[in-house]
Amino acid sequence: MDQDSLFGSDGQALDADGTRARVRALRKEIEHHTYLYYAKDAPEISDAAFDSLMRELRELEQAHPELIDPTSPTQRVGGYVGEQFSPVRHAVRMYSLDNAMGLEELDEWLARTVEAIGHPVPFCCELKIDGSSIALTYEAGVLTKAATRGDGTTGEDVTVNMRTVRDIPLRLRDAGIEGLVDPDASIEVRGEVYMPKRSFESLNAAAAAQGRQGFANPRNAAAGSLRQKDPTVTQGRDLSTFLYAIADDAPVRAESQWDLLKWLGDCGFHVNPDVKRCDTPEEVHRFCEEVADRRDSLPYGIDGVVVKVDSFAIQREMGFTARAPRWAIAYKFPPEEKTTVLRDISVQVGRTGAITPVAELDPVRVDGSVVARATLHNLDEVHRKDVRVGDTIIVRKAGDVIPEVLGPVLSLRPEGAIPWEMPAMCPSCGSPLVREDGEAAFRCVSIDCPAQATERLIHWASRGAMDIDGMGEEIVARLVESGRLTDVADYYSLSEYDLATLETGRTNKEGEPVHLGSTIAAKLIASIEASKARPFGRVLFGLGIRHVGKTTGAQIAAAYPSMDALMRASEEDLAAIDGVGGIIAKSIRAFLETPDNREVIHRLGVLGVRMEDVRTEGEDVPQTLAGITFVLTGSLVESGMTRDEAGSRLKAMGAKVSGSVSKKTGYVIAGEAAGSKYDKAVALGVPVLSEADLLRLLETGSLEAAGIA
Ligand code: AMP
Repeated sequence: MDQDSLFGSDGQALDADGTRARVRALRKEIEHHTYLYYAKDAPEISDAAFDSLMRELRELEQAHPELIDPTSPTQRVGGYVGEQFSPVRHAVRMYSLDNAMGLEELDEWLARTVEAIGHPVPFCCELKIDGSSIALTYEAGVLTKAATRGDGTTGEDVTVNMRTVRDIPLRLRDAGIEGLVDPDASIEVRGEVYMPKRSFESLNAAAAAQGRQGFANPRNAAAGSLRQKDPTVTQGRDLSTFLYAIADDAPVRAESQWDLLKWLGDCGFHVNPDVKRCDTPEEVHRFCEEVADRRDSLPYGIDGVVVKVDSFAIQREMGFTARAPRWAIAYKFPPEEKTTVLRDISVQVGRTGAITPVAELDPVRVDGSVVARATLHNLDEVHRKDVRVGDTIIVRKAGDVIPEVLGPVLSLRPEGAIPWEMPAMCPSCGSPLVREDGEAAFRCVSIDCPAQATERLIHWASRGAMDIDGMGEEIVARLVESGRLTDVADYYSLSEYDLATLETGRTNKEGEPVHLGSTIAAKLIASIEASKARPFGRVLFGLGIRHVGKTTGAQIAAAYPSMDALMRASEEDLAAIDGVGGIIAKSIRAFLETPDNREVIHRLGVLGVRMEDVRTEGEDVPQTLAGITFVLTGSLVESGMTRDEAGSRLKAMGAKVSGSVSKKTGYVIAGEAAGSKYDKAVALGVPVLSEADLLRLLETGSLEAAGIA
């Protein structure tokens, strides 16, 4: 540290050189304390002293704007002007990891790996952080780019937002630069950005207080916070990082993963201290077991342990499969199972009137988030599982997200607990519930049921449908209650004033009602506006026509890409569409012929909701992809399209879409976490396209124009 030039804070005027030196010294000092605080969790000075250094630097920079530099700690927001979220092609692909589900599979992998190498080797074991992957580029020691993983080949530019995350250095520390073969080299380090459990909970609590829906888990919260348009929003979210990899290890003097982690620490990155270098498979096994036992007590979420062959030389020899390194495995924890008390079974009325029993639980934390409710699906399921109010029950997360009730702990059943029965009346409108022959669900068949109307409105705004960002269930319910929203077309005549003045149902300290406010209102208006341009298949799904799910919506739109064309289609025409049978065709016709529905559809069109697919206007779409077969694999995370939606849009241009790869396949489109179809494509030499390629293809309608052929 350049202590000498730290003198001078006694108010004496500094000359130009003195000012420059003082600014430099202050920056170094602040960077050092930021590093100690965020990356080392070991602050050496008080917050007040830190703030005072920052204030002085800010004042000097204000007085001498010529000294401002984008790497200054004052410039985390606004010090860099980049194109937010534009595509970034990774210099080296960001791979996924193969999984070992359970310790047995882990042991098998370890034995296989040691055998393939031919002698015992050390393994580096790290926690598998449950966040979002990030790649940071530094040129000559200065942060120049931050990108998400995206589909592994192309990610999104999130530099502006990542700069606000305080545990990443804007400039590498000297000790790290000294570890580089060439100090001016461009390097890309990789790791995970995550949200600590406690911050995730307070963020969700704050969202609930404003009547908004929170994030499903800390991973989504991290990814969502990173994708904010306004960097000050990201800055206000408590995001942290752990760095653990480099795209290409050539510029670093490191021979192993263990050395690399040490070097990353020298650079000033936050490196997870919970790592272990194990000399034997047995040690790896024990470490994984031990971590599984204490995962709950960690302040951030993890979903396993990543085991890597430590030596870079051996890693290079082993190489990669199409999707993952051969020298690493992710040991995944079995889903957590927790017990809690079933306080009640309530019933929910769906948008089609179907009644769903819901378990109301004493809140319990399962795999990183708090579970208080879980669907019990239908009456038969409640009886089959034999869960009764008052029971102690076992819950877990199915597929990491949806809470599931496994069953009761019978030995703890309270005396007198009786089997649950469906209520006779709809809890919303009081009409008798009916169960049609052969159906599992009970239904409220009243057309005036307010609960169904609200559910239809929620459905329209939901992610898979029109995706009106921020329009959570509570806000919709309030809009309905206050008479501002009756049917889905009403969304498009809401004014900012209507929304800003909506009562949230809460009161402030003075006992006055709290309104939604103009900031949220403006955001909602923007989201509503954006929803007008959703593909026509989403409109069909969003309308809530019985039996028309997301996939069917897309299939119908591929055959009839506009509302006018669909209105003219007969029941027979509809039944002939791939994936649409007689029952669905009947349901669509019945919906389209109901005068109230026609009126809503008409108003949607007048208010600007796009009732046709742009590239597929009319019925004569140019068949530019005729004769070409595509196979889709992985998920299309950037656009949020389902594979069926993408497939339907390709088909509309004459392409064939197949479920399996063969020599005849023209192209494989690989989204995130692409599976064995990707491997097969590589083996057969079939060209592989990224999601970005697909989007360009859909937009331009031609392989040439999309730069593919
Ligand atoms: P998955 O998404 O399940 O295929 O797992 C692969 C992802 O795990 C990688 O892309 C990383 O984002 C993430 N990950 C979390 N912690 C680590 C770690 N310590 N080493 C490698 N990858 C990790």
